[in-house]
Amino acid sequence: MKITVLTLFPEIFPGPLGVSLIGKALQKGLYTLQVQDLKSFAIQGRVDAPPCGGGGGMLLSAEVLDAALSPLPQSATWIYPSPRGKAFSQEKAQEWSQKEQLIFLCGRYEGVDARILEKYPFSEVSLGDYVLMGGEGAALAMIEASVRLLPGVVGDPTSLLEDSFAETPAPLLEHPQYASPVCWEERDVPSILLSGNHGAIDQWKRKQACALTRRRRPDLWNRYVAHRLSTLSESED
Ligand code: SAM
Repeated sequence: MKITVLTLFPEIFPGPLGVSLIGKALQKGLYTLQVQDLKSFAIQGRVDAPPCGGGGGMLLSAEVLDAALSPLPQSATWIYPSPRGKAFSQEKAQEWSQKEQLIFLCGRYEGVDARILEKYPFSEVSLGDYVLMGGEGAALAMIEASVRLLPGVVGDPTSLLEDSFAETPAPLLEHPQYASPVCWEERDVPSILLSGNHGAIDQWKRKQACALTRRRRPDLWNRYVAHRLSTLSESED
């Protein structure tokens, strides 16, 4: 997979993408990361312009962005991290992990001239309901979540299957996990996990995942229940 990032602050990259398993994947060439400095496309030393109609702040100018974006392939997946976008999700990360090239345009200031989002095939995607200073932090999170799913990045790919949100289309949160020692500060690892009975362990994990999801994420839980009911009624038909 090829990843291209356009930013006013190339020094932010690779940042967390340069360390641990994700950094090793970069070194091994499981994905490539090309970072382009938007300042190198400045026109008369400027990358920004004031918004028409007034209002505070500045916008990244259409002409500057156009010069940076026009050589890039239309066939890539174009992403503009933005608080106005659809919420990023594990499902999106799974979709993007199958793509050949992802292009991230990192906004700054008040954002970008809207005509750039009309001219190029961008999807606006949000990291959450809050406003960051720039798109770089959002792009890093979106890239990490997508690259993590590429074959060979995580040592044991079965660990990905039990992750929170891994199951589609009705994901659950992951069950609690324990490691040795089996007794720590008078707290025991649940005995079922030491039983060696894999069927019972799987059942316990499922029950825990359901209970946690129900308690913490009623939105996900309702989706899960609705999905279970619809598959049950389909199997009865
Ligand atoms: N004026 C914009 C608005 O209210 O929608 C916010 C601009 S923000 C200060 C600057 C840039 O940070 C945005 O253009 C976007 O690229 C990025 N950004 C901020 N919050 C984000 C979020 N929640 N998700 C993804 N990107 C975000």
